[in-house]
Amino acid sequence: MAAQMTDSHRRFLQVLMSHGIMEGSEARKLHRHCCEIHKVYYAHDKLDDFINTINIHLQPLFMQIRKGMSEDDGRVRYALVNLAETEITKMASDYTENELELFRKTMDLIILSENGFASSTEILNFADQLKTKKMKKKEAEQVLKLFVEDKWLSERNGEYTLHTRCIMEMEQYILSNYQGVARKCNICHSLAIQSQVCETCGIGMHLPCVGKYFKAQTEPHCPHCNDFWPHEIPEVSRMDSQLSSKRERGKELHSQH
Ligand SMILES: [Zn+2]
Ligand SMILES: [Zn+2]
Repeated sequence: MAAQMTDSHRRFLQVLMSHGIMEGSEARKLHRHCCEIHKVYYAHDKLDDFINTINIHLQPLFMQIRKGMSEDDGRVRYALVNLAETEITKMASDYTENELELFRKTMDLIILSENGFASSTEILNFADQLKTKKMKKKEAEQVLKLFVEDKWLSERNGEYTLHTRCIMEMEQYILSNYQGVARKCNICHSLAIQSQVCETCGIGMHLPCVGKYFKAQTEPHCPHCNDFWPHEIPEVSRMDSQLSSKRERGKELHSQH
């Protein structure tokens, strides 16, 4: 029997919908808040069950709350994804045809790049080559801004990559449309856009996964072919994945000094 959907679940869903995507720690706080406000049973380790209940009720709507990881910090994210459409058509109602074409070009650049980033210059070069309708550079800049606001892209110093929400929503689409190019992380087995790649055997790993995997190893070797791993090992930021107690965090902070 499906668990009952209560007002606490509905409130959680509404807040998540308005954000599109949430950090694990925010989602845990929200879970607690929703349960307290509606006076229903709360257990801090039951967030995934709580979400499963919502997901059962979202199924007929072809929606789902999905748990994923940010490629930037390796932390958990929860996003509401649309399962009804498996392609970029998810975006079709929000953008014009040439905006979508620019998004596809940007996605190509990002996925075909070595590090998972495309520069604004590279992207803007496509603006006056679009087949559907050419764009002025200024216009294209505005559209890029919109993609960032809507959480399809994220931007850092003029370099663009796919937003975590976009990856969570379009993972299947990307894996099937960029076969042989898009790769899965050798550690967590989900799609890896920003990654380090073994120069010998070609496997890839997310940066946070690299950091965790090679933590405390002085001579990192590829987990697949055992060749020397020639990249700089990113430092593991405080992974908050399942850490929730303040005491433990305090301990962690102290041990860093
Ligand atoms: Zn990974
Ligand atoms: Zn290798």
